[in-house]
Amino acid sequence: MSTPGLGHVVQAVVSSIDEDNLEEGIDKLRALFPDTTLLAALDLVDRESVLKFRTPWGGCHYEVLGSTATYSVFPRLGWSPDMSCYCTCPAFAFAVLMSESHLMCKHVLAVHLAEQFSKCVEHSIDDNDLLARLTSRVQ
Ligand SMILES: [Zn+2]
Repeated sequence: MSTPGLGHVVQAVVSSIDEDNLEEGIDKLRALFPDTTLLAALDLVDRESVLKFRTPWGGCHYEVLGSTATYSVFPRLGWSPDMSCYCTCPAFAFAVLMSESHLMCKHVLAVHLAEQFSKCVEHSIDDNDLLARLTSRVQ
């Protein structure tokens, strides 16, 4: 069920959600995600676990605080026709890339929802900080 187009469907559904039709939007997302993934993502947004780092050149980098680790999330990959997003968590590698049983992990969904609800916790970073953040997790 993991076809490239569905990632864009998720983005379209999320971007149609607002405060007035929250319930309806969540119902649509239920068609695309297991309840556990959806509720976990909403919980991450509620806990303000979605961090957005703004770079001086107008780019941004997302991280999500998981229960045991912090993961880098790339919610929109423009360069790949096969993958619409990427997350560094083990669930993404296992459930999304290997078994293709999920469209995206809860962290990527949380970033989309946090963006939509303006609930990202924003920080500014410079290029050295960004480099350190990106390379410290590549082992
Ligand atoms: Zn993840």
